[in-house]
Amino acid sequence: MSDTTAPVTLTYTPVEEIEVIRDQVRKGFYSGKLKSIEYRKYQLAQLGYAIQDNLDKFRDAFKLDLGRNPLETDFMELGTVLKEIKEAHDKVAEWSRSEKPPFALEFVAMRPVIRKEPKGTVLIIAPFNYPVALSVGPLAGAIAAGNTAVLKISEQTPAVSALVTEVIHKYLDSDVVRVVNGAVAETTKVLELQWDHILYTGGERVGRIVAMAAAKHTTPVSLELGGKSPLIVDPKTDLQTAARRILWGKGVNAGQTCVAPDYILVPRDSQAKLVEALQAAHAQLWPNPLTSSTFSHLVSEAAFDRVHSIISTTTGTVVIGGLPTASKADKFIPLTVVKDVKGDDSLMRDELFGPVLPIVPVDSIEDAVKFVNERPHPLALYVFSNDQGVKDKVANGTQSGAICFNETVIHSGVYGLPFGGTGNSGYGYHTGKYSFDMFTHLRASMDQHGWIDMMIGARFPPYTEQKRAK
Ligand code: NAD
Repeated sequence: MSDTTAPVTLTYTPVEEIEVIRDQVRKGFYSGKLKSIEYRKYQLAQLGYAIQDNLDKFRDAFKLDLGRNPLETDFMELGTVLKEIKEAHDKVAEWSRSEKPPFALEFVAMRPVIRKEPKGTVLIIAPFNYPVALSVGPLAGAIAAGNTAVLKISEQTPAVSALVTEVIHKYLDSDVVRVVNGAVAETTKVLELQWDHILYTGGERVGRIVAMAAAKHTTPVSLELGGKSPLIVDPKTDLQTAARRILWGKGVNAGQTCVAPDYILVPRDSQAKLVEALQAAHAQLWPNPLTSSTFSHLVSEAAFDRVHSIISTTTGTVVIGGLPTASKADKFIPLTVVKDVKGDDSLMRDELFGPVLPIVPVDSIEDAVKFVNERPHPLALYVFSNDQGVKDKVANGTQSGAICFNETVIHSGVYGLPFGGTGNSGYGYHTGKYSFDMFTHLRASMDQHGWIDMMIGARFPPYTEQKRAK
C-alpha cells in the first residue's frame, strides 16, 4: 500500500523544454490525426479511463493537498469531470457536424455552410481549487473540437498535479496533449509563446497578465475569474433550508470555491433569526467540533495567514467557529460566520476564498440590490426567496455571471447551463457544449456554381449606366 500522508514533490517542467512541448503538440495538430472523429473519441475515452482507473489515487491526492473528504472530491470534482468527458465523447460527432445558415432564397444556390473547425493548439491554465475539473473538464471540450492542448496546472496542489501529469502522459497521445508544471517562471514562459486560444481560470490579477500576454499574439482568451459572490436572504423564505444550503456552499472545499457565497445581505431586523437558523444548521451538518480531519483545509500557509488576518481584524461579531481552534500547522480554520459586518470591513475588501462568511445587515431588499450594484459584477449571485417579485427585482436589477435562486454552488454543474463570468468575473463560457464552442472556429464556407454569373453578372465592371438602370 502507498503512503497517502507523505508529501509529494512536484517536478517542474524545465523552462527551456516548454517551447519544445508546445511545438510537439502543434506538430500533432498539423499531423491531422484529430480530423478523425473516431480518433477524438478514442482520446476522450482514454481521458475518461485516466480518471476512472485512478479514482482512489485522486481521492488520496486531494486528501493530501486540501484535506478534502473523498465524498466531497467525488461529488465536486471526479463525478462532474467524468460526466463532462462522457458527454463530449458521446456528442462529438453531433457537435462537429457542419451547419447550414437560415434559408434565404437569394443565397441558397451558393451552398453556404458553417464548418466547425478546431482553433489549433490551445493552452489551458488551471487554478488549485478544483485542479482536475478545471483542467481535464475543458480539455475534453478542446479535444472534442479537434484541438491539441497544453495544460498548465497548479503548483499549489503537488499531489494532484503530479497525478494529473502522470495519467495524462500515460493514457493520452503525447502529440495531442502535454502537461506543463511550475509556478510564475514557467507560466510566464508558457505565456510568451503563441497559442490559438487560451483558457485561464484563476484570480483577476493574473487574468489581466494572461490577457495582456495573449494580446501580443492576437490570441483569443477566455477568462474564468472569481470575485465576491453575494447572497441575498429574503426573511420570508424557509430559513432552515436556506441555512443548510448556504453553509454547505460555503463549507465545501473550505470556502475555496470560485462560486462560494462570499457574503450574506439580509434585512437588519431579520439578522438574528438568520443567525439562529445558521447555528442550528451548523450543528446538524457538523455534529462534532470541526477539525482538520473532518473539514478541508486551506491550500497553503500563506492562504492560512491571509484568511486568519482578515478574520482577526474584522469589527463584526463571530457567531459560528472563529480562530481559537485554527491551526497554522494544519492550515485549518473552522467554518466561521461573522454578523454585523460593515461594507468597509476587512472581510469585505477582496474575495474571501476561505471558510468565513460575513453577514452584512441592510435596510431592505432594494438596499441589497444597491449594495451589489456598487461593486464589480460577481461570478454568481444567490437569492433565497419564495417571492417571485423579489426574485425578479434582484434578477432584473443586477448583473452577474449566474443568478441562482434558493441554492448555492451546484448551478455550476447543471447540465446545459453555461458557466462564465461578466465584467470583473471574466468572459467566455465553458462546460459541456460550451467548452466545445469555446475551442471551435466557425469557418464560413460557400461553393459557387458557374451559371450564377447569369444572375449576378451586374457586379462586374465596367459599371455602365445600363447596369445601373436594371
Ligand atoms: P491564481 O491566479 O493564483 O493561479 C492560477 C494559475 O495562474 C496557476 O496555474 C498559477 O501557476 C498561475 N499564476 C500564478 N501567478 C502567476 C503570474 N504572476 N504570472 C503567470 N501565471 C501565474 O489562482 P488560484 O489561487 O490558483 O485560484 C484562485 C482564484 O481562481 C480565485 O480568485 C477563484 O475565484 C478563481 N477561480 C475561478 C473559477 C471560475 O471558473 N471562474 C474557478 C476556480 C477558481
